[in-house]
Amino acid sequence: MRLSVKNIEARKSKSGRGIFALRSFRPREYIFEMKGKLLTASDIEAEGVFSALSAHSYRFSEELYLSPIGENGDSLRHSCMPNAYVYKSHDKLFIRAISPIAKNKEVRIDYSTIMADDDNWSMRCKCGTKKCRQVIKRFSLLPKKLQKKYEEMNIVPNYIYSVSEICAVSVKSQNLGLRRQSILALQQQGFDKAAPTLLEILRHDKSSVIRHDAAFVFGQIQDKRAIPYLVRAVQKDISDLVRHEAIEALGDIGMRTRSVEGILWQCLKDKSPIIKDTAEMALVTLGELEQSAA
Ligand SMILES: [Zn+2]
Repeated sequence: MRLSVKNIEARKSKSGRGIFALRSFRPREYIFEMKGKLLTASDIEAEGVFSALSAHSYRFSEELYLSPIGENGDSLRHSCMPNAYVYKSHDKLFIRAISPIAKNKEVRIDYSTIMADDDNWSMRCKCGTKKCRQVIKRFSLLPKKLQKKYEEMNIVPNYIYSVSEICAVSVKSQNLGLRRQSILALQQQGFDKAAPTLLEILRHDKSSVIRHDAAFVFGQIQDKRAIPYLVRAVQKDISDLVRHEAIEALGDIGMRTRSVEGILWQCLKDKSPIIKDTAEMALVTLGELEQSAA
């Protein structure tokens, strides 16, 4: 698709620099392509700026941000009553119209629609619209009604609410197969995004199979911050299936901390053979025990 630069102009207005329409746009019409450099969150930090917001960056995917410095996107502003939205297609970000936009009107998006669960910054809003929320925060913190409205309008890129959706399904769905799938999918999200959901499941879920899955995923993520949760599961869970998996996960994480060694040695005296055997294997994995010749 060819998008003329003449569609828009970045210029100053009473309220600061913004993007203005040089012609009228129909709903869903493409307005411009957001160009810029792709950065990871750590690239942004390395540049010494406080957050993706202060870098004027736009969420591009689960891993990347687009920094539009020197491009039109740099002047695009937020409104709590947006007339445009971010749309990703063929690995590019476009700005498209939500509602009809008249010539000379400012084009604005709602920043919250491109803030995922790990975008944990906020900003005062002075958009001045009658629906102004005063503070701009990530999508999952918007009022539920507004989230639903935006989802129905189809203006939220998939990668923004995929993580929170996965988490919600993992905890709440009635469909056991779907829950197990979602819990496994949390592996890809890394410790910071997955841990709160996994911990909630490990502590409170009624199904031992589901608690077992959460312990397994902690082991796959291999982050030592999960150790206290797993040790607790080995000590307190009523199901040997869950205790077994928590021991395996401690072996997979591979850290020989005092609490890990303590609990594993204790498990060698457990009355359940499966717990004893698993603990023995984990101690071998951790180099604490010689592999037995038998
Ligand atoms: Zn506002």
